[in-house]
Amino acid sequence: MRLAFIRRLRRVFGESRRGPGGDGVFLRRFVSGRGRPWGCSEKPLTNFLWYIALRIFRCIENFPRRLPLFSRLLVRIADPSSLVTGALLGVAALVSAFHLRGPWRRWQAARRAFPEDHRRWLARRVPFYTAVNDVRRRRFERDVQFFLDEHSFEGVDGAVVDDELRLSVAAGAALLLNGRPAWELRGAGRSVLFYPGAFDDEYHAGDYAAFDGMVHQQGPILLSTRAVRASWSDPPSGGENVVLHELAHLFDFQSEGADGVPSLMAPASESAWRELVRRETARVRSGRSMLRDYAASAPSEFFAVAVEAFFERPAQMQRRHAELYEALKNFFNLDPAEWGMGERERGDVGEEKSGQQQEGLRSTVQRTGGDITGPPSA
Ligand SMILES: [Zn+2]
Repeated sequence: MRLAFIRRLRRVFGESRRGPGGDGVFLRRFVSGRGRPWGCSEKPLTNFLWYIALRIFRCIENFPRRLPLFSRLLVRIADPSSLVTGALLGVAALVSAFHLRGPWRRWQAARRAFPEDHRRWLARRVPFYTAVNDVRRRRFERDVQFFLDEHSFEGVDGAVVDDELRLSVAAGAALLLNGRPAWELRGAGRSVLFYPGAFDDEYHAGDYAAFDGMVHQQGPILLSTRAVRASWSDPPSGGENVVLHELAHLFDFQSEGADGVPSLMAPASESAWRELVRRETARVRSGRSMLRDYAASAPSEFFAVAVEAFFERPAQMQRRHAELYEALKNFFNLDPAEWGMGERERGDVGEEKSGQQQEGLRSTVQRTGGDITGPPSA
């Protein structure tokens, strides 16, 4: 086997030089596979690998002959007045500027003072904000500033975008990321589009408007103004949060779409998570779950609905779905049950909402191609 390989190597490299047109013609034919000169393979990938091997071989073979050229180039680079040095420094500066643009913007955003009215709003609406220590709160404020700085916000169909709407979405992102400082929200830099109310799958309000939020693998985050305002309402609206729901979907997108297994989940936990989702989905279907029915429509929706409940009704989830609570606690590295959410959860402890109320938040997730994963709820 090895001998055959060496023979072939010798034949290919030796004959390439002797063949008509020398290396140049040989290489062109070799890489295209046309004419199969000198017995090269019919498989394009094999040809390509041979081509790479040949290029490396030629490079090593020719290096001693090109050494004087290399040394002249080195002398030029060492001379700071030479054009080559100037050009290289220019290219290096451009590349550095390109890569440093993001960090530079973040540094600028982090240096800006956090607005006091933002602080007051967060203290009133987001229980996490007042419950955690200074380090976590500062990180939360910083992530809010990054989100506001890196996303554009637009109103559609006459929706007016104000600070409260912007802050509502940024607070959701900062909350989800707070326990994992190294994480980034997938697809940063998206625009956020606000609709006045629900919209249909062609993004119009009307008789078939069924969605309060929608997010795609690429492209904007679409949200209903009405649902966003209800997400962090005071008093709480009852465990539903379209902001957390849609942003949770961003954790779930893989190259092939959303599958209900967050892409940042440790691979070792994936099979246990799938099994847990299967069991919990069965509970939703049999009416023995605190999660609303929409969670059973697709694994990706299960994750998004579970994330809402985890942050909005943590005590109830910890009591009734201890394993699910632990899984999400480990995933986000956050423990909302410790934040004293009793006030926010008041009124729904130990009781289930009617099916109709549970269907109140309608939302879905789409793939880039436009097909909806999981049927939209009615
Ligand atoms: Zn969804």
